[in-house]
Amino acid sequence: MDYTTEELLQQIQELKLENESLKNKLDQPIQDEDPLEQSTKYPFTLEEYKRYGRQLLVPEFGGPESQLRLKKSKVLVIGAGGLGSPALLYLAGIGLGEIGIVDHDTVSISNLHRQVIHSTRTIGELKCESAKHQMLGIEPRLKIRTFQEGFNSINSFEIMNGYDIVLDCTDNPATRYLINDVAVLLGITVVSGSGLKTEGQLSVLNYMGSGPCYRCFYPTPPLPSSVTSCSDGGVLGSCIGVIGVMMVTECIKVLTGWYERKEKGFIPFLSLYHGYNEIGQSLRSFKMRGRRKGCVACDLENRSITREIIESGELDYGLWCGKVDYSVLNDDDKVDVQFLSDVLSKQKDDKNPILDVREKEQFDIVHLDGSINLPLRKLTNSTKEVPIDDLLKGYDSTLPLYVVCRLGNDSQLAVKYLKEEFGLQNVYDVKGGLNAWASIIDNEFPTY
Ligand SMILES: [Zn+2]
Repeated sequence: MDYTTEELLQQIQELKLENESLKNKLDQPIQDEDPLEQSTKYPFTLEEYKRYGRQLLVPEFGGPESQLRLKKSKVLVIGAGGLGSPALLYLAGIGLGEIGIVDHDTVSISNLHRQVIHSTRTIGELKCESAKHQMLGIEPRLKIRTFQEGFNSINSFEIMNGYDIVLDCTDNPATRYLINDVAVLLGITVVSGSGLKTEGQLSVLNYMGSGPCYRCFYPTPPLPSSVTSCSDGGVLGSCIGVIGVMMVTECIKVLTGWYERKEKGFIPFLSLYHGYNEIGQSLRSFKMRGRRKGCVACDLENRSITREIIESGELDYGLWCGKVDYSVLNDDDKVDVQFLSDVLSKQKDDKNPILDVREKEQFDIVHLDGSINLPLRKLTNSTKEVPIDDLLKGYDSTLPLYVVCRLGNDSQLAVKYLKEEFGLQNVYDVKGGLNAWASIIDNEFPTY
């Protein structure tokens, strides 16, 4: 059939309208129909019996009584990332009364290998909304509340109040301590998970308002320089995903009273998962002590953390956990990427003027031609007893040395160390690192 341009435009317009109305229909909550009507004779709708039948059959689950408990429960998930994504997908299907999602971040392409609740289609969208959309596909009647904000001292009590359990799916120590302290004060159980590279750990904290808390296990935060993030240390999606899924199992056990039904009750534990073990994979669980006497959060006699000091900001979690101070150099010790580019273009021989202090795995992904790789961690473990020529193979000490990393932070620490420990003078930090190189000098240089 032949159409005129006008007819085609008309058809496109009609299809657009149809598409719009279908989209609207998708967003509408499904109206209850007869088979879904709550019977007075049975506690669940006919659809619910079908939906949850397979888990109702599991002896450990606890039958219809447990299902009813889930139906009345409200679960808060803080963080819709590597842990939160698989956790939320499974939580969506188990028949909860309400799920709250806290995340202020938006979906980016580097999230997708592990944050499986999001998709290429939702890049740029808020993670909590992207997650909600996917979860409603599993259970359209699910009540989901999204908090499009960062979890902080000011909003923490308001957000967490009223939830029966919290899944801590965050990735930084400051937020972990904050979640812990608020949960202890509100008497809410926390399922805590974390993971990096191919390893992860899992625990249940402040169990029913009486178990040990995060501060009982970790009274002081780790050194900021020892904290590695996913973007620096890398993470295998399937390994962190395992932890997220295990968190849901703990959530079910707590909400359905599994630990109460056990003869020995709840025993505090820490489970450690290794994806790349000597033999296969491993999960080892360690029995932990109960509440620590003197804990500033949960020891009722010695508690110094109160709602007032949290909400007033008197307890600055970020400051307490510390940040690595990267402002350690003068401007004279720094050059920009344009300067480095000019140096490289004038260079005639293949002497190595660049020291790349990223980890080897990052160096192997991409690096500037002629760079020497010596990770910051290795450099700062070396002392001047080792001749610098041995440490930096191919380095010509008569030439200036330009130090790069991914973002221009570690390189500053490296320059400082080379000057102070090895007495090098002719050594410079490249401002903004390889990311700046990619955006200003070479648009084809891969960033990750
Ligand atoms: Zn404690």
